[in-house]
Amino acid sequence: MASEKSSRFVILYASQTGNAEWIAKNIHQEASERGFVNECYVMEEIDKFDLSKENVLILVTSNTGDGDPPDNATKFFRFLRKIKSNTFLSHLKFTILGLGDTNYTNFNNTAKRLEKRMIDLGAAPFYNKGLADDAMGLETTVDPWIANLWPELVKVCVQKGKDNNNTQVENIIESVKTLSINGKTESNETSLPLETPNGQSVDKKMGIASGTKIMLDLSELAKVEQFTALPRIPTVICKIIKSNEERIINSPTLPTLINTPTPIVNTRLDAVRCLTHPEALKRTIHLELEIKDYREKLEFIPGDSFGIIAPNNEKLCLGILKTLEIDENEANQEISVESAEGTELPSHLRNAKSTSIIELLRYGVDLNSLPRKALLRLLAEYTTNEEEKKTLLFLCSKQGSVQFNLLREQVPTLLDLLITFPSSKPPLERLLDVLPPHQPRYYSIVNSPLVNRDLLHFAFNIVDYKTPVPYNVRKYGVCTPWLDNLSGYAKEINKRVPLTTDINIPIFMKPNSNEFAVPSDISRPIIMIGPGTGVAPFVGFIQHREQQIIAERKLNNIEKTFGEMWLFYGCRDIEKDYLYREELERFSENGFLKELLVVISRAPNAGLNGNPKYVQDLLRKRGQEIYELLDQKNAMIFVCGDAQGMAKGVNDALADILVEHGKIQKSDALKILTQWISDKRYLRDLWS
Ligand code: NAP
Repeated sequence: MASEKSSRFVILYASQTGNAEWIAKNIHQEASERGFVNECYVMEEIDKFDLSKENVLILVTSNTGDGDPPDNATKFFRFLRKIKSNTFLSHLKFTILGLGDTNYTNFNNTAKRLEKRMIDLGAAPFYNKGLADDAMGLETTVDPWIANLWPELVKVCVQKGKDNNNTQVENIIESVKTLSINGKTESNETSLPLETPNGQSVDKKMGIASGTKIMLDLSELAKVEQFTALPRIPTVICKIIKSNEERIINSPTLPTLINTPTPIVNTRLDAVRCLTHPEALKRTIHLELEIKDYREKLEFIPGDSFGIIAPNNEKLCLGILKTLEIDENEANQEISVESAEGTELPSHLRNAKSTSIIELLRYGVDLNSLPRKALLRLLAEYTTNEEEKKTLLFLCSKQGSVQFNLLREQVPTLLDLLITFPSSKPPLERLLDVLPPHQPRYYSIVNSPLVNRDLLHFAFNIVDYKTPVPYNVRKYGVCTPWLDNLSGYAKEINKRVPLTTDINIPIFMKPNSNEFAVPSDISRPIIMIGPGTGVAPFVGFIQHREQQIIAERKLNNIEKTFGEMWLFYGCRDIEKDYLYREELERFSENGFLKELLVVISRAPNAGLNGNPKYVQDLLRKRGQEIYELLDQKNAMIFVCGDAQGMAKGVNDALADILVEHGKIQKSDALKILTQWISDKRYLRDLWS
């Protein structure tokens, strides 16, 4: 391309939960309005673009689990990996926006890896990469990154016609300026009532959630003269088309809105067991799903996980309908979601044909995730009350960023926002333009198919907590309270209760892309580290190997050596939350589990005088033996559980063991661990 500008550019995105897709499509839309010819594709649509012919590329990618690429980036990574020539992309200029979270190890690893690979293949960055951090709010990086993209893009890409968008932005700022100046004549007092709500109240008679007003301190608002860095008014994308004949849509037996990587099947709840004592800090439930009708469709091995499609809370959906003044009849009528001219529906709404508004609320959109600024911007557009409009614009401006973060601390639902700003009544189709997709929830499989092929066992903590003081509002998860309710709120510790409910639980298998599975070579030792519910897949690992060994003994009638299995497990109180204690102790007693190492984090002496508190402390204590297993017996390491603190703590402990017993430098130990991760010898299944 030399000094010549490209006539067009391409945006490629990879998205796990819809954020990267939404941002990429917004860049696409805004670029088109600014007069740039451009196209936007998901990375896996590899046959739709040809990098050997493109000159300018923008990449937007999120991360999953342990800094891995989203599923829809896998093909693209493979494609880049296969290229041998280091000048293959030397004609290409690119930039990259990564969406990550500093709470996890390998922050924005996918964006960093992609950047490196692009440069290795000869491509040159035309604009510094942006690494957004969800812990700080993605918008804090994304918005300025996009704002500063345009002057850089114009240096490498032709911009045609009038820059319509600038005019739009100026108009917004102009109207807001007037608003603020008017506001100055009013009192400096907070304009929305400050209140201390105590829990989401539910109008039991109506069966409708009434939401919780958000606490806002608006004392700064009156001092602001002008709002800057306001997000654009979200583009009109979705249109709700009513069916010609009025037809009530019954909820389908299988959810049809969510795209899944494998087919969805309806399973039945077979049994429940509460794994924790009523006084435990968290309630953990073990469920068994009957899958005998799907033997072919649902193949699994320990280490696999599966997705459950739970609906959004019904009372919450009804509360939103009531607030938006949509009556029950209208909510159940047949509708389709179509794209407005010149736009493309977001991928999570492509199946929204012959559906209904209530189904969209149940399965189509996320009503609970932290609000994006774009949602507040949209609500501002539909307010009839000037105070509310001003507040909403303040919250999504640069000047209101502190209050925006405080609003997010309260984890408001869509309903909470609508009741806090009651004059805002956006049409539902406009909300579809900005709400993220509803997500399936994933769980690790606890059992081995060698023991029972007809049941799928899994475990989970009930998500039920309070937001911090002074808010003190009770919040619930989507899937776990739903399952808890369907399984009768089991309370008695370790009592298996058979269930006869006919309610369908729609599930699908998640392809196991990171090879987190018990090795087929039964002579290979494995070190398993899984505190809390992180132990779930390891129960299946041990069951599986136990069955493999029994089968091997029967077949060959000889005592073959099998690889040692070590399990490091951690809980808070041995009597209250030692999950799967019976099973684990039995494995240990019969010798299949060579070492069962349990650490109690809230024991009186935990962490004092050299006593271990966490699994990583126990690892260090047994460092010599761990080193021998790794160095002399080619052991594999599996870590499952919390991606935030635990995974890093365990990685550090492993590095320390290599340093102490292998007599190497820490930097070399860390390199070895990274290499083991790529070689799939050290596997991590990390969850947020
Ligand atoms: P948890 O009950 O919160 O914690 C288990 C133990 O880990 C406690 O003793 C806790 O101690 C300790 N711990 C706290 N911080 C730690 C750290 N930095 N390093 C090591 N140990 C630490 O565990 P959980 O809620 O079950 O969490 C496990 C994670 O696994 C979750 O993210 C969950 O989503 C995920 N997971 C779920 C499944 C599933 O299928 N449901 C499967 C696998 C993993 P203190 O509290 O006393 O500090």
